[in-house]
Amino acid sequence: MFNKILIANRGEIACRVIATARKMGIKTVAVYSDADRQAMHVTLADEAIYIGAAPAKDSYLQPQKVIDAAIKTNAQAIHPGYGFLSENAEFCRLCQSHNIAFIGPPVAAIEAMGSKSAAKAIMEKANVPLVPGYHGDDQSEDLIKQHADAMGYPVLLKAAAGGGGKGMRQVWHEEEFSNALAAAKRESLAAFNDDIMLVEKYLTQPRHIEIQVFCDDFDNAVYLFERDCSVQRRHQKVIEEAPAPGLSEAVREKMGQAAIAAAKAIGYRGAGTVEFLYERDGSFYFMEMNTRLQVEHPVTEMITGQDLVEWQLRVAAGEALPVKQNALRINGHAFEARIYAEDPKQDFLPATGTLNFLKAPAENDHVRVDTGVRQGDEVSVYYDPMIAKLIVWDEDRDKALARLRQALKHYQIQGVTTNIDFLYNVASNPAFAQADVDTSFIDTHQSHLF
Ligand code: ADP
Repeated sequence: MFNKILIANRGEIACRVIATARKMGIKTVAVYSDADRQAMHVTLADEAIYIGAAPAKDSYLQPQKVIDAAIKTNAQAIHPGYGFLSENAEFCRLCQSHNIAFIGPPVAAIEAMGSKSAAKAIMEKANVPLVPGYHGDDQSEDLIKQHADAMGYPVLLKAAAGGGGKGMRQVWHEEEFSNALAAAKRESLAAFNDDIMLVEKYLTQPRHIEIQVFCDDFDNAVYLFERDCSVQRRHQKVIEEAPAPGLSEAVREKMGQAAIAAAKAIGYRGAGTVEFLYERDGSFYFMEMNTRLQVEHPVTEMITGQDLVEWQLRVAAGEALPVKQNALRINGHAFEARIYAEDPKQDFLPATGTLNFLKAPAENDHVRVDTGVRQGDEVSVYYDPMIAKLIVWDEDRDKALARLRQALKHYQIQGVTTNIDFLYNVASNPAFAQADVDTSFIDTHQSHLF
């Protein structure tokens, strides 16, 4: 096992990784920007190295600065968290060339999943079911439109390089196609410096169900069941849960096997998530694979009793997976609510300011709070404004949901506008209580949620 690792991230995920490293007796190195001199992840780590100015592009997104910090502190491995450099193949390569272990998949797997188009081509070969669509190299507008016309509207245009919902456009009628394509390309070029597009049939009421997979270097692969992330706003997850309500054992196993096939098709190692769209009739379609630990991994930890960061560290250090598939069981039900500094009443405008008062619900076997901030900290304009993840667990969905409502009610934050009331309204919604959810849930119920 490693003696010392560097965490190339900030906020709650840096703190989360430090907690497991400490439990395993591994020393930790934090990196920080000007905005984070006093940040929680810096105080929790054994050492901390300054890597630049507050804007992420000058610090957390600088591969060489992060590598230099690892070399300087003799860190043997780097955990990238999520976001920032976590799916950056160049960074992964740089780690390799400096003999530093990258706590994540092999470079080739990151590259294979880096383009949504290339990823779909690989999955097609591996017989993983895909949303009908076109993801070819020929990017002429006529050809893409022909495919859209043939499938029938609505369709969804997606940037091959996309992420975070950027570069996506729904097209409801043929006449809108040309403008929508131009707009999606512009957005993609600005965000990803690339404008390759693919087109898919737009499913109007799917659920987003994703499978957590894990692979090691010894050809072992397991799935740790699914998470339902259907409650979304602008294609961004708001509340996640595990297991997915109402999923039959047969479909669960089929999705698990498809996810393992997806991971094997790209020689995967470590933690990965295969995202599917799921329809009421039990059919499911591959969307993309995220080659990192996900924000919502705690709900999986709550229902399986496993520490996924520990698994990541073990696999990266060359150990085999700690358990076999038949030893994994779903126990109870978990929810995660993402507590954000934002104003739901102003179109979720990100909020900034000082957390003058902060009181999270007490943590116990049923309630977990993953955060990277304390009372008195600043929520700045520089980074993602997530304040915390509130995770609850109980024996069944109804009880877990009651816990979620209770915990949200007791979450007190002053000084910065948050989405807590909005989350409470979602958790109290009768349709949500009946698990009558799909990705249009927030739009459908908006008059009751704000
Ligand atoms: P990103 O990488 O930008 O997050 P994804 O491909 O993961 O984009 O899609 C994000 C969300 O968009 C999904 O969770 C789902 O809600 C919605 N979505 C994606 N593809 C489709 C589709 N073909 N039909 C309907 N909704 C879709």
